[in-house]
Amino acid sequence: MNRQLKSLPTPGILPLLRNVPDLSFVIPAYNEAGNITKTVHRVAAEARKLVRSYEIIIVDDGSTDSTFKEAKALTAAHPVCALRLSRNFGKEQAIMAGLERSTGAAVVILDADLQEPLCHLETLLRHRAEGFEMVYAVRAQRRDETWRKRAFTRTFYALLNSGSETAIPANARDFRLMDRKVVDALCALPERNRFMKGLYGWVGFRTKAISIDLDKREAGVSKFGFRGLFKLGLTGLTSFTAWPLRVWTGIGMTIAACSILYGLWIAIRTAIFGIDVPGWSTLVVAVMLLGGVQLISIGVLGEYLARVFAEVKGRPGFIIAEDHSADPEQP
Ligand code: UDP
Ligand code: MG
Repeated sequence: MNRQLKSLPTPGILPLLRNVPDLSFVIPAYNEAGNITKTVHRVAAEARKLVRSYEIIIVDDGSTDSTFKEAKALTAAHPVCALRLSRNFGKEQAIMAGLERSTGAAVVILDADLQEPLCHLETLLRHRAEGFEMVYAVRAQRRDETWRKRAFTRTFYALLNSGSETAIPANARDFRLMDRKVVDALCALPERNRFMKGLYGWVGFRTKAISIDLDKREAGVSKFGFRGLFKLGLTGLTSFTAWPLRVWTGIGMTIAACSILYGLWIAIRTAIFGIDVPGWSTLVVAVMLLGGVQLISIGVLGEYLARVFAEVKGRPGFIIAEDHSADPEQP
């Protein structure tokens, strides 16, 4: 359907023909029963001020609380589409499910806890009117986080950017406005193991960053503990950099060069001073060190291989279990 309409020669009337909303909001929600209703009311109130038509897509990412029940109830009063994923697939996949379902001329991704103040919506739209195809929010500061999380984030982005062909801005949020072109480009990518913050940069387009301060989460708790962040970080590193694979050539060459020099030194020393007492401790240390280095390198290879394996299997990134949309006639 989309493809047929795209080929029509009169793009000006397309939005009218397809009943395309000006703006789609994509809200991934995992156990957000305490937030979702308030969030949608606030988003709707803000959207009514800024655009003629909008839709709100709530993606329930396998919540175990009443998030989906609340999302379904919201379809009675707002142009909401409530999707329920069959299990918890993670935020990246929930965002993709929402992007694929969205139809708006532009899409805004929002967290369900509304930590990103909605007053910035107007700025996002203003920059879009200036010709930017993607406008994203960057955290002005991270003082509210622990030093461990801050250090982890800083190291992660330094490692990521040292090997990535496109710059991946540190501290960027998923909160962003994207033109339909950008959304279509993201949806067309075939990879399933997605690191969205990298992909936003990879697809390119004219982009603009705005700096924001985050509000506190009103209800519930953050879903990203250290383990979740570490997993996401590994996905980012393996999908955007190949240096962890290549670095072993350098390490191997350095160890080989050191061994040759050490071998030469032993030969010369033996020629001059004769045979020394056998150095079994040096031998054990060398064997253990090399064994460790080799196991680490195999582990890194395995990490990449596991991801190739996951891609080759071709399983979908998410499964939609329920799709509950508001009546299209509704305002
Ligand atoms: N989220 C999700 N699936 C997950 C984890 C989180 O859809 O597996 C959603 C969550 O409901 C929220 C957004 O992603 O709307 C951001 O999560 P959170 O607020 O926990 O992250 P933080 O703001 O602490 O980085
Ligand atoms: Mg949050």
